[in-house]
Amino acid sequence: MCVTLGNAQQAELLRQRIANAEGELQTLREKLKYLESTEHTPQSFCSSDRLPQDEDKSTTDPATPSWKWTLKEHEYARYGRQLILPSIGIAGQLRLKSAAVLIIGAGGLGCPAAAYLSGAGIGTLGIVDGDTVEESNLHRQIAHSTARINMKKTDSLVQYCQGLNPEVCYIRHGTHLTPQNAEDIVSKYGIVLDCTDNPTSRYLISDICVLLQKPLVSASALKTDGQLIVLNNFPAPRGKPEGGPCYRCVFPKPPPPDSVTSCGEGGILGPVVGVMGVLQALEAIKVIAAGMDTPQWGPCTPSLLLFSASGSTSFRSIRMRGRRPDCFACSASSTLTLEELKSGSLDYVQFCGVAAPINILKPEERVSALDYHKLVRENPDMDHLLLDVRERPHFEIASIPGAVNVPFSTFQMRGTPADESHPDWLPATLSPSAPIYIVCRVGNDSQLTTQKLKEMGLDRAGQRFIGDIKGGMRAWKQEVDKTIPFT
Ligand SMILES: [Zn+2]
Repeated sequence: MCVTLGNAQQAELLRQRIANAEGELQTLREKLKYLESTEHTPQSFCSSDRLPQDEDKSTTDPATPSWKWTLKEHEYARYGRQLILPSIGIAGQLRLKSAAVLIIGAGGLGCPAAAYLSGAGIGTLGIVDGDTVEESNLHRQIAHSTARINMKKTDSLVQYCQGLNPEVCYIRHGTHLTPQNAEDIVSKYGIVLDCTDNPTSRYLISDICVLLQKPLVSASALKTDGQLIVLNNFPAPRGKPEGGPCYRCVFPKPPPPDSVTSCGEGGILGPVVGVMGVLQALEAIKVIAAGMDTPQWGPCTPSLLLFSASGSTSFRSIRMRGRRPDCFACSASSTLTLEELKSGSLDYVQFCGVAAPINILKPEERVSALDYHKLVRENPDMDHLLLDVRERPHFEIASIPGAVNVPFSTFQMRGTPADESHPDWLPATLSPSAPIYIVCRVGNDSQLTTQKLKEMGLDRAGQRFIGDIKGGMRAWKQEVDKTIPFT
């Protein structure tokens, strides 16, 4: 179906975009005016307690008695709905106000987490991210906007949160967390939220939180599932069994790199990652409001919360053990130090492994996208089979004309029984010597499938060519058809 916007609709869209841009300009002008008139640091924008309109005007007016309550007048209005909860109260609100929270990752988890922490009146909110906003982020990273594509994510998220609550002091760390900068950044905060999306960061963040004794709220989400756990809570010194487990206690070994799927490849449903980010904010608020600075703060029973949008039970909670007596990071026998971490001798990338590009086929088993295209164009009646092994949703978005879809996962499930020499997807009309070309997303699964089909005997001892299209659909888009939406 082809949908074309009429001129009137296009004009209306443009009017809306201009209005948005003008609103954004206005915000930027106000911010610039404020920054020019006040002392500031380049990375932070802390308006609370400093804006002139926040001055206690009553002291200059003898007819009005001076303000004698704990919070400022407007704070009772802003936080009133949560103040009256027994679990918050004035004491909890003051703890939130004096808390410094670090959010690492300004994406699908970090956006909702930052929004709710900002709304709750956290004193200082630090945000770490080195990326810029991309269009593919917007379906789940709700604090960013179409107008802010290409803006640094930290700037975009702070801009959003400032609109929500200008009382909070926002600190932007527009870089990725590394072993070298981790101590400097994390040491300024009281509690950390891991809102990143890869194992390498998770181990680094956990290690620095153990070394600096910070509680850590960790969450992840992929496809339709999510998980959440509060780690290092409470953060007793290493070797003390009353301290909460760290990420290494729960996951001593990283998953095999080939099994790690990113949101880019595996997909992610926006509300799923949103739910997990909101829960991270909730757990942080609970820990802070309960009193991280009180003698009552002590051992907690850790539990891993699992969320599934596709299962019959949405939420499940699994009680976890405490610290591992032999944990690499938090046990008494751990030799991990800040110096060692900073020196770079702990190679997190190597520890987690890298999914290397596969290169298992011989050159003669591979054709370029351009060569295949030429072959088919010059021999339109060529008897052959083009097998597209991407998962069905990818295939349904766009495919090469004539391709037959058999998802890679079906080959992984199959054994190699004898009757696999005539699998059901193989057209009966295909001649026994007709070649089979295999294409996938980026050219890895296609190589594995080529091997698999040969193991199944489909190459008839070399009588039939079986090979893949080098670089998959990504190469097809680059070399042959630029209109293909690459997903
Ligand atoms: Zn541990």
